[in-house]
Amino acid sequence: MSGFTDRLDTLASRVINKYSWSTVRKSQAIATDVPIVSFTFDDVPDTALTNGAAILERYGALGTFYLSGSLMGTKETYRNIIDAEGARELARRGHEIGCHTYAHRKAWKLSPGGLRRDIEKNGAMLAREQIVDRAENFAFPYNAMSPLARAMLRRRFRSCRAANEGINRNAMDPIALQAVEIRQPEDHARSLTRWIDDVAQTPGWLIFFTHDIADFPTPYGCKPETLERLVSHAVAKGCQILPVCAALDRLEGKAEAA
Ligand SMILES: [Zn+2]
Repeated sequence: MSGFTDRLDTLASRVINKYSWSTVRKSQAIATDVPIVSFTFDDVPDTALTNGAAILERYGALGTFYLSGSLMGTKETYRNIIDAEGARELARRGHEIGCHTYAHRKAWKLSPGGLRRDIEKNGAMLAREQIVDRAENFAFPYNAMSPLARAMLRRRFRSCRAANEGINRNAMDPIALQAVEIRQPEDHARSLTRWIDDVAQTPGWLIFFTHDIADFPTPYGCKPETLERLVSHAVAKGCQILPVCAALDRLEGKAEAA
């Protein structure tokens, strides 16, 4: 029964995502001569801090870490999620903390008002724990979009990241950012250098997302050496590696090009 419910749930998300993407209006120009790459981490397992953040820092780069309050400090079979101290550590080291909802439910399952309250709850928790005063950027749990909540999300956040594998190029709608997932199998994750080659050839904004960075990763993460391969490849290809907030600053002309 639960298998059936899961399949129905996945199918519903697929249909809603397809509809959502078909109605996205990309009206904000992306004008950049420099290829921009962002590395983002959802849920934030502890290895995204101990390995993920550390690898980025070795290359002088910073990432965006989308936190979901209800997951923080929890231990799952194959991963432990960072607690408030881990999150403060990320922020202290200069990484961006983003919002990933509090309850970590698919956005379309909540009314726009329910989603707004859930997001406020996450924001209050992040502020109370002195992690970040106000998260500027958002990532949809399970990359499941909610067309009904679009106006609310646009008022609340600078950007919302979903998936829809691809590069943000020429124009974007910041509340429907495309991204490329770094996940298993490892050979697949290693081959994602092709996306870096692509954005280096024709500049735009390539956003990666992943979860744990571990020697024995879950299906939704990769090994440390694979993340390092992607980061070093981006640097070698002349990409600017920026957290989402800084990439938006650059694309909106609020930061001078390096
Ligand atoms: Zn998530």
